[in-house]
Amino acid sequence: MTAAIGPTERTTPHGDPLASIGPPCQRARVHVQLASALAPVFADVTATGAPVPRVVDDGWSADPGSATAMLWSGDGSHGAGVSVPLDRPRPEQVCHVAAMAQDWVIDELCGTTATNWPRCPHHPTTHPLQAVVRDGAARWSCPRDGTPVAVVGTLR
Ligand SMILES: [Zn+2]
Repeated sequence: MTAAIGPTERTTPHGDPLASIGPPCQRARVHVQLASALAPVFADVTATGAPVPRVVDDGWSADPGSATAMLWSGDGSHGAGVSVPLDRPRPEQVCHVAAMAQDWVIDELCGTTATNWPRCPHHPTTHPLQAVVRDGAARWSCPRDGTPVAVVGTLR
């Protein structure tokens, strides 16, 4: 035996080293493009203290051109579908799911005092912001005057 453990020794103790890249996927059944589009929206939901839905892929749409899932409240009493058109530019996908997640959040907040999520800083008692694609990014904008307020995923 001439083999020795050295810096050039090619040992792979436990299989494919690629498997260690990235965290384990906790939403394995949700399409990667849908999960990716939802991520900045959920960041905004979390940052603003709004209720955060659970994402469950139960295949409510058979459309092969889109990925779908359900958004559920914590106790499962309130659900709404969300979908993303596949192979569209990411800003469009983020904008698309932002509008759907916004509907869920507003429904979830129904009956409380703050249903205008996310709140328009220019008209805080009048309307929520609206997700639009502008200058290559999904942005929350004032629906009245079109003023972009923040890139989706950067709300505070
Ligand atoms: Zn406004």
